Amino acid sequence: MKKDTKIVHAGRDKKWTGQAVNPPVYHVSTILHDSVADLKYALKNFKNKIWYYGRRGTPTHYAFREAMTELEGGHDCLIYPSGLAAINAALLSFLSSGDHLLMVDTAYGPTRVLCNKVLTRMGIEVTYYDPLIGSGIGTLLQENTKVIFTESPGSVTMDIQDIPAISKVARANDIILMLDNTYGNLINFDPYAHGVDISIQAATKYIVGHSDAMLGTITASKKYWSKLYDNSFFMGYTAAPDDINLAMRGIRTIKPRIKQHEQSALKIANWLKARDEVDLILHPAFPDCPGHEIWKRDFNGSNGLFSFTLKAGNEEALTALLDNLKLFKMGFSWGGFESLVMSFYNLKKERDMPNWDDYGLLIRLHVGLEDADDLIDDLTQGFEHFNKAL
Ligand SMILES: *Cc1c(COP(=O)(O)O)cnc(C)c1O
Repeated sequence: MKKDTKIVHAGRDKKWTGQAVNPPVYHVSTILHDSVADLKYALKNFKNKIWYYGRRGTPTHYAFREAMTELEGGHDCLIYPSGLAAINAALLSFLSSGDHLLMVDTAYGPTRVLCNKVLTRMGIEVTYYDPLIGSGIGTLLQENTKVIFTESPGSVTMDIQDIPAISKVARANDIILMLDNTYGNLINFDPYAHGVDISIQAATKYIVGHSDAMLGTITASKKYWSKLYDNSFFMGYTAAPDDINLAMRGIRTIKPRIKQHEQSALKIANWLKARDEVDLILHPAFPDCPGHEIWKRDFNGSNGLFSFTLKAGNEEALTALLDNLKLFKMGFSWGGFESLVMSFYNLKKERDMPNWDDYGLLIRLHVGLEDADDLIDDLTQGFEHFNKAL
């Protein structure tokens, strides 16, 4: 079946939905077992998507897990209360004191904080690497390297990683390759076709798609499933059924949403490219974007997220631009139906590479589902304020 058809039907097994189209939202802690025989069955089979205890899951969870596995790939999926919790669970399920982690230098900011404040405190050694390193990652391997963590495109600067090249090195050395696939959503990147072992998503973004729930997912290949499942349970992870229901609803419309975000973002990026104030368009579909050729080879299109840099200007002019935008609202996160703008003032602090290119003034946009021409009008008047304040 084609992807569009799978998106409509995934996770809708009658086991989970009953006679309804969508799986019901179960609010459950205690699950009652009718007899000793039933209890004994449950005690033996609690890993197999049965009624056991709320934290192990309900049909609401199982339907979403199946949908994610069918659409992203891997052996199975687990659900977490946020994207960051999922990243934490993936790393802590596989890393122990004395192990070495290779973390991409362009990782999502809070992922770095997790590494620097928690993992290192637990005796896990972290080395940040250049996102464009490709097969050169081999030179950074140590005896104790356990995990290579990737995120592509990278946070804010959108650097594209050569995941197949890194996968080759990881496989040859029995190292686990993890990917933060939030940008890839369920449409733009296929992690398992490119050699990833564990794929993590902030479902908070495009999967939920409406800026009204926090959720994380991990799909894992068969080799790593059992360890991930057990350790996530040991650490107490579960997720709320209402939020899962919102994510499940989000899945059904993800393809047309992504396509519209993509089309509008490309229109706006092309318009920005022609502006005198703009220097680089850090959008994977533009040659300015580091790793653009790899994006062309590996990705199925783009979405609403990209950054651009300014040729000249100062913080005052940037403030005038941001404060005067009407449709582009200022706020963290992305992937909802609405447009967002954000500037990153201390990006240099979030990079370890000594040769890292300091881009100067940088703006990140999330292009929402508004009419693209209205969004261009908004940016036009924003730039008028920018130029006046220069
Ligand atoms: C937002 C985001 C996360 C964290 O997700 P939350 O649900 O906000 O915790 C992780 N990785 C990337 C790339 C993100 O954009």
